[in-house]
Amino acid sequence: MYKFLFLLLISSIVFAQEDTLIVPLKSIDSTIVQDVKYATANNFTKQVLYPSAKVFLRKVAAEHLAQANEFLKKNHNVRIKIFDGFRPLFVQKIMWQILPDDRYVADPAKGSRHNRGAAVDVTLIDADGNELDMGTPYDDFTERASFASKDVSEKAYINRKLLRETMIQFGFDPMETEWWHFDFKDWKKFGILDTGIN
Ligand SMILES: [Zn+2]
Repeated sequence: MYKFLFLLLISSIVFAQEDTLIVPLKSIDSTIVQDVKYATANNFTKQVLYPSAKVFLRKVAAEHLAQANEFLKKNHNVRIKIFDGFRPLFVQKIMWQILPDDRYVADPAKGSRHNRGAAVDVTLIDADGNELDMGTPYDDFTERASFASKDVSEKAYINRKLLRETMIQFGFDPMETEWWHFDFKDWKKFGILDTGIN
């Protein structure tokens, strides 16, 4: 009996560690296109914030994103392009200095779900790799970036809806003010990290 409980304890610890690992997204799904604007100066800070352009995520979040991508490929002939995943806390601080508005940038005092490796910024691309019309570009900090904005075309709204409904179906919670941002549902399980894993 004790032996069984001990084994149960050990296996749950191993599982927990496995579950919270931060992994390169590419090792889980190499068909998700990565376009990390923060690894270039082409972002709202106009600075290169990441030394490399690889996306990292908690393993379980990456696996759910891969499932969403699979579903989209199979049923809609589109796939996911990702702009950002794990973001070290020091980068959050730089962003907050530039745009201290918590509608668009999380206050580093609280931390972003990106700092936990449990949030993604994503869009959809067609079979030729072209981004679908979402009404605004990524990191457009205006009211038009709100999911429910009436100020975008019908087509853009339909595309936003496909992205949002698919992400919800595979375990991500949407954000109202940014059509591209989704939190993995279990984000609370993961702590904030400040390591420059990139
Ligand atoms: Zn985000």
